Amino acid sequence: MTTHSHLKDLDYSVVQQCMHCGLCLPTCPTYDATKLERNSPRGRISLMRAIADGRLEATKAFADEMYFCLGCLACMTACPAGVNYAELFEHARAEAEASSVLNHPQRSAIRGFTIGWLFMDQRRLQLLGKVMGLYQRTGLQTLVRKSGVLKLLPKRLQELEAMTPRVQPDFSSDLIAPVTPATSPKRYRVALLTGCAQDLIFSDVNRDTAEVLARNGCEVITPPEQSCCGSLHAHNGEWTLAQVLARRNIDQFPPEQFDAIITNAAGCGSHLKHYAKLLAGDAAYEKRAHLWDAKVKDIHEWLAHIGIQAPAAGPLKAQTVTYHEACHLCHGQKITAQPRTVLKAIPKLKLVELAESTWCCGSAGIYNIVQPEMAGQLLDRKIDKIILAGAHTVATGNPGCLLQIQNGARQRGLPLRIAHPITLLAEAYRGETGI
Ligand code: SF4
Ligand code: SF4
Repeated sequence: MTTHSHLKDLDYSVVQQCMHCGLCLPTCPTYDATKLERNSPRGRISLMRAIADGRLEATKAFADEMYFCLGCLACMTACPAGVNYAELFEHARAEAEASSVLNHPQRSAIRGFTIGWLFMDQRRLQLLGKVMGLYQRTGLQTLVRKSGVLKLLPKRLQELEAMTPRVQPDFSSDLIAPVTPATSPKRYRVALLTGCAQDLIFSDVNRDTAEVLARNGCEVITPPEQSCCGSLHAHNGEWTLAQVLARRNIDQFPPEQFDAIITNAAGCGSHLKHYAKLLAGDAAYEKRAHLWDAKVKDIHEWLAHIGIQAPAAGPLKAQTVTYHEACHLCHGQKITAQPRTVLKAIPKLKLVELAESTWCCGSAGIYNIVQPEMAGQLLDRKIDKIILAGAHTVATGNPGCLLQIQNGARQRGLPLRIAHPITLLAEAYRGETGI
């Protein structure tokens, strides 16, 4: 039984905006896979509206449908009526969580530990990262994998174990000083968000981002203690926890003090730019949240805006690169040209376009963990297109996509490099001096 209805509370102009034209249907990966109306944006919006109108209670079938949706937002790009599917989707998942329809002791325990505890404090996540890092680097993981003991686990757990990302030996605070001075004439003062999982798995990308910003005339402020942006919470129906994290981030990075607040993770950026909606009605934060939203910039967006200082052609080798567009960069933030501008600024880099570059790779937050079948189909499709592109490197601006495509390449035995565009740019700057 629903105790509080997020969909009934939602502005009705958002709920009733869909005109059922169906133009979004061909762009929706789940509809494309099943051809079922209920797996389409239009079908899902009809269900949401029925709940908002009081014609339907949140049922398990409704909740399952909301979790079958990738949240890729391709439907928003396609929609001529400007339906705000992102907002509908977050409220629908919150509706599903507020009802008891998905309650199960195991699910509650996993969500409570991860979303409710682990990702609420970066020190907890770093502690887990240190333990995992030791397990991986001491050779224990290799030993366990070779011993065959993993074969005793259920198949799904074996698959999850194989997907476990490698934790970096150093986290962002070990690699980036709290203040990185500009290495070319200073024009801006920016803050760098180092993320939660990004801090553990891609701290090197964070370091590259700080270096690239400094090289482009930015003084970079990177507080060693940071918090998750809360997108994981908002996308999984935990509205209140997402609000707690939004307030914490605004306090930690007062938007009045920076020219820009930089993120290099597409999924985070897409959420970070909407704190004002999340904190609407909060007298202490709403006004600052508007300023915050205006200051948050994806790294590619910011560099294209301030003008990239092109690296000089050093002794770097020529490379062919294709670009996969993270959903929350191209659909969530409408950032499509800027990452290509970054890549094209790199000497000796040939950019070849990827067919279906904006089609989801199946990562979608934790979708590849909770919906492995659909995520696997999407990954196969993505890897097929990557093979056709014939590039040696795939560039993409989101940690989830980086990991997903890395896993896909490993499963197929492909010698592909998967890298963040900013890493490629940082390498080009380092290559100027032959370091
Ligand atoms: S967010 Fe993606 S999966 Fe969900 S309805 Fe829209 S296009 Fe389909
Ligand atoms: S394209 Fe927009 S208006 Fe048309 S069915 Fe899809 S969501 Fe509704």
